[in-house]
Amino acid sequence: MVFYPREVPQGTSSRSEKATLDAELARDCGLAGPVDCELSFDRSGGRIRVSVEWDCTVAQDCARCAESFDLELSGSFEALVVPESETVDEENLVYRDETEKVDLGNVLYEEILTSVPLMPLCRQDCKGVLGVEQLVKIDPRWSALGKLKSGN
Ligand SMILES: [Zn+2]
Repeated sequence: MVFYPREVPQGTSSRSEKATLDAELARDCGLAGPVDCELSFDRSGGRIRVSVEWDCTVAQDCARCAESFDLELSGSFEALVVPESETVDEENLVYRDETEKVDLGNVLYEEILTSVPLMPLCRQDCKGVLGVEQLVKIDPRWSALGKLKSGN
């Protein structure tokens, strides 16, 4: 997700983009395709505030049943992009001159990574791996365990 400050007019403007991440970063996120992004710019002098709304699909393994599934993710973030000549705090992205490209790819990558739940579930009521009853049907040797559990 790249833009050039010289292409951003003063005041507000916006554009949509199908952003692609660096292949390695995309793999880290489990990203299969591009990320749909809506970029809104608010420029005052050299300072450009960028608001990004994004959504994408990532491949995840269910924390209960270990099946892989597609997870829809979406979010938004803001970044302040300022010329190097202005005093800035470290949070901001900096450009040296108007023709230099500003890459928001790493910010987007961090946003996607932190949006992936710690325990992704293929569905909210996923029963997870087989219970004892189902295991007995597959292999009767599990029946001893089944009796133990049911108290017979
Ligand atoms: Zn599952």
